[in-house]
Amino acid sequence: MEKIENNVCSIFIDESYRNFTKALNLINNTTDKNINEIYDRVLVISDENVYKTQLNKFIDLLNAKFVSEYIVPAGEDSKCIDTFEKILEHGLKAGLTRKSLIIAVGGGVVGDLSGYVAASYMRGIDFVQVPTTLLAQVDSSIGGKTGINLGTYKNVVGAFYQPQFTFINVSALRTLPDSEFRNGMSEVVKYGFIYDYEFINYLLENSEDILDKRDSALRYIVKKCAEIKAHVVEVDEKEGGLRKILNFGHTFGHGVEKLCHIPHGEAVSIGMNMAFKLSLKRNLINQEYYDKFLQICKKFDLPIEFEGPSEEEVLSIMKTDKKNSFSKINMILPTEHGKVGLFNDIDDETILEIIKECKNA
Ligand code: ADP
Ligand code: ZN
Repeated sequence: MEKIENNVCSIFIDESYRNFTKALNLINNTTDKNINEIYDRVLVISDENVYKTQLNKFIDLLNAKFVSEYIVPAGEDSKCIDTFEKILEHGLKAGLTRKSLIIAVGGGVVGDLSGYVAASYMRGIDFVQVPTTLLAQVDSSIGGKTGINLGTYKNVVGAFYQPQFTFINVSALRTLPDSEFRNGMSEVVKYGFIYDYEFINYLLENSEDILDKRDSALRYIVKKCAEIKAHVVEVDEKEGGLRKILNFGHTFGHGVEKLCHIPHGEAVSIGMNMAFKLSLKRNLINQEYYDKFLQICKKFDLPIEFEGPSEEEVLSIMKTDKKNSFSKINMILPTEHGKVGLFNDIDDETILEIIKECKNA
């Protein structure tokens, strides 16, 4: 088991769930305590697919006496007020107190929702993230963002609430459908381009091991991304500055994600393509660098073009992104190998042109 720790987050990375209790002890400065000696009750929140593929293994090893489970339907729709309320009610009925623990076992949906439940229940009780998708392992389970959607408005209700720790079992990714794995690879690739160019070379050189989901390769990439995310979040917990680099590919992506109803990861790779094209146009980078981006997208089967809506529609959605301030569109663009910069001076015309270039005619 490996540990990444800073002032904001604690993350454990392993290849099974076996050391979960050990992690719990390390965080609580105890040795060999059973979970029942640390918390009076435990609520495990998960979704249907994770329940079938992962939960038994996790619960068995947890060895908790007073444990209850709450299983939500799989999918984004569970991140709603209604489910939020139902879980809180379940918590009351199950007798959860301020000394209880909530554990989220699942992807970003379960993690975001459970985190917000934990932040709200009796004004906040302890919470642990056990992410089971690649996307959640490298991104959403780290950094303390929790929340739910209001109708079609994503993540507009929520709180910054740090988990006690994040426990990552990379072997959980074995049961993850390939499409979901690919979805997470977009974010993995993102980390290389925003922070660590060497990592891009690693991904290219080890693509087979990664796609075969070899434990050692999974462990390497998840650790690398978790380290970068943890560092960025430590420097800028509430997204005032550095944390914005994590939005690379997301501003453009936001438009196509909403309009084309495609998975988040696909929107992010299309969004990164748009950002790359814009950088190229501005002479911030050269063609060779852009080619590297195209090469890695091909290797991991990440889309770079969208179909459907007009460029005007995409732009108008981009402008509603809550990450913009004072109606200016904030764009994160690649500037040099493994580095990005924030730009807010790009005119609509240029943006429209770029969006059009990424449309699969
Ligand atoms: P994300 O983590 O990408 O934000 P979700 O939480 O919706 O998204 O998870 C994506 C899908 O993968 C869901 O259908 C979920 O049930 C399923 N899933 C999550 N983890 C696993 C796993 N380890 N094995 C199989 N399916 C999983
Ligand atoms: Zn993302």
